[in-house]
Amino acid sequence: MAYKTVNPYTNEVVRTFEDTTDAELEKTLETAHALYKTFRKQDVSKRADMLREIAAKIRENAKELAEMLTVEMGKLIGEAEGEVELTAIIAEYYADNGPKMLEPQEIETGANGIAELHYQSTGVLMMVEPWNFPYYQVIRVFAPNFIVGNPMILKHASNTPGSAELLTDVISSVAPEGSLTNLFLNYDQVEKAIGDPRVQGAALTGSERGGASIGEAAGKNLKQATLELGGMDPFIVLSDANMDIVADAAWRARIYNTGQECTSSKRFIVMEDKYDEFVERLKDNFSKLKPGNPLDPETTLAPMNSKGAKEELQEQVDEAVAAGATVYYGNEKYEDEEGQFFMPTILTDITTDNPVHKTELFGPVAVVYKVSSVQEAIDLANDSQYGLGGSIYTADTERGYEIAKEIETGMMFVNTPRYSLPELPFGGVKRSGFGREMSRTGMMAFINEKLILKADAPDMDNLAGALIASQEI
Ligand code: NAP
Repeated sequence: MAYKTVNPYTNEVVRTFEDTTDAELEKTLETAHALYKTFRKQDVSKRADMLREIAAKIRENAKELAEMLTVEMGKLIGEAEGEVELTAIIAEYYADNGPKMLEPQEIETGANGIAELHYQSTGVLMMVEPWNFPYYQVIRVFAPNFIVGNPMILKHASNTPGSAELLTDVISSVAPEGSLTNLFLNYDQVEKAIGDPRVQGAALTGSERGGASIGEAAGKNLKQATLELGGMDPFIVLSDANMDIVADAAWRARIYNTGQECTSSKRFIVMEDKYDEFVERLKDNFSKLKPGNPLDPETTLAPMNSKGAKEELQEQVDEAVAAGATVYYGNEKYEDEEGQFFMPTILTDITTDNPVHKTELFGPVAVVYKVSSVQEAIDLANDSQYGLGGSIYTADTERGYEIAKEIETGMMFVNTPRYSLPELPFGGVKRSGFGREMSRTGMMAFINEKLILKADAPDMDNLAGALIASQEI
């Protein structure tokens, strides 16, 4: 039995889940496909109304939803409540704005007649999601595609099955059967589902390894895919930055969700005249964080999501140190804690041949670089296989804006840690994946942008008509 809830604070196995059988997968595909056909004939406003009701249900069940996150993957309860509210906000956004985004657009054309783009559903989607934001990741795909009319099958992470089930139950209390079905699938079943002719696309958020598998399955079956993968987001501090703002933003940008976020700031790139102050203030803020029960609102440091995740991070830090990195702060054990806590850690003196220079650290470890010019900061920021997000701090916002254009990522933020809001597109370049989620762009990921050209009669004088007319019979 692969799917289970293990509380990373108490290490208790809370619940195990039955694997989904092939017969159950087949039944789900059939139901979802039938719903796709029903959705094609349904007015989009009906789904918008349902999505608005789903947002209300999420808020009604906020306490239970939030506590599930905290028990299952260790998130601080305050952050869990924030994720639940963001999930409701995203649902509401697509309920309010989705139908307008799907209105047909007229195309200016020299062709005879009126040309329009219609935005139509394509079919059932396979959604594969990670444990780090168990509701937010799902709603990013579900909300726009529900409006579009694409039913979805969810394979969630094997360590957050309770969250997957609970959110799906809330959604299913409003949406028709087949809209979003959570299944406890193995990897072979996911691949089989992607290859099924009733499935038209696959969306994955996760690691490069997971992304490569899903991308391969989609590619070989000629299916559309979006891949939201890892990141090593740079956090650039220029000489003129306000260090009070920087100090406050830096620890939050690294520690939020215990550093287990694709868009956590993972590489701090600091101009040499601000470096000493930066590392001292980061150390000061890290040292104030205290481990404890994540259900207690007073706790400031949550455990990592699992024993395996903590062990992997420890191995990465050990390797970095063996390769010459300095532990400026942290990397000690909390002897009194049984949970999967990792002490917030600062690594400095990273050479370009150190493994952590090119490895994503998915936990509360900050890697800090000292640079002597803006160009060096840009080059270092771009020296990564990833290209997800990044931020830059400077008193000269316009200069920051110009530098932001130079960084090879899908998202850049000037003088602010990153935002995730439904109207802003989310996604990256390079090995951070392809495609976008959220915003109008995200909504178009699995859509048929269909041309309909209507004319009362052919006009043989225009170009298209002339091509037809040139054929003699
Ligand atoms: P992961 O191992 O790839 O798991 C993510 C999901 O993919 C899980 O449901 C997992 O199932 C599934 N999966 C993995 N390999 C699969 C395969 N071959 N076939 C079918 N399903 C497969 O990722 P993770 O390590 O848990 O998550 C952390 C990674 O996600 C980090 O790299 C992080 O940066 C990235 N991430 C990216 C974003 C973004 O939006 N760009 C957001 C959050 C996280 P199991 O649990 O059963 O293995």
